[in-house]
Amino acid sequence: MPWFKKERKAPIAATKETQVRVPEGLWIKCPSCAQIIYNKDLVANLHVCGKCGHHFRMTAEERLRSLFDGEWQEYDAELTSTDPLGFTDTKPYRDRLASSIKATGRRDAIVTASGTLDGIRLQIAAMEYTFIGGSMGVVMGEKITRAIERALAEKSAVIIVSCSGGARMMEGALSLMQMAKVSAALARLDRARLPYLSVLTDPTTGGVTASFAMLGDLNIAEPKALIGFAGPRVIEQTIRQKLPEGFQRSEFLIEHGMLDLVVDRRELKATIARALRFMRADKPDAAGSSQ
Ligand SMILES: [Zn+2]
Repeated sequence: MPWFKKERKAPIAATKETQVRVPEGLWIKCPSCAQIIYNKDLVANLHVCGKCGHHFRMTAEERLRSLFDGEWQEYDAELTSTDPLGFTDTKPYRDRLASSIKATGRRDAIVTASGTLDGIRLQIAAMEYTFIGGSMGVVMGEKITRAIERALAEKSAVIIVSCSGGARMMEGALSLMQMAKVSAALARLDRARLPYLSVLTDPTTGGVTASFAMLGDLNIAEPKALIGFAGPRVIEQTIRQKLPEGFQRSEFLIEHGMLDLVVDRRELKATIARALRFMRADKPDAAGSSQ
């Protein structure tokens, strides 16, 4: 469950009567500035707090809706993990998958789709954080690779919106292999001179950061997103030193040359469109001509 869902409550002192009359989930409290926001206003504002600009997490579907012009075509929605290792931690992976599928209506932590963004045809892959922390297993690797292959076939650009805790532990080395698999597909896209933009949202960590999330022709982050390999707590415990303020946040990383842009979500679509036109992705015959 995303942490912010727990914050939802009515803004009025909870007498017995208001508890009954104010439906659950109608209001949400901004964790950054404590502003009480009407949920519909938050949705209309692309899940950004109108007062302080805090970026709430989005579902994969909300993300696609915020980028595509209209309808999009989804691919490989039926692909699902087979639990290749028969893995069990606090509960069997099989059960974990089943409950995530039930809760999200998705069969894995990524949605891949094609459509147009400001009139430019492209492929977008967006992660679903509520599905086992957006973790990358064999299904995510395969679906992203197929999206890149579709882009190669139709000479279009690729955008991957990352929101992930990293490789999926329950698929062991098979998850780690997806880092190489997706990176190799991106190398082919690069050789075909087709653009790949990586959008890093809160959080983008582990094997996702260590592979394709950092391989974009442009690496664009949302404000204050946590981006890193190991989490700050793990690093602090390892090096036994206090980390600097804002360490591993977008603004710190761009200052240190790790990112190209930090873009407010409300400007993201226009920024991507401008970048794609600059890279001539709006003219598929011009791009990819030296293949
Ligand atoms: Zn706020």
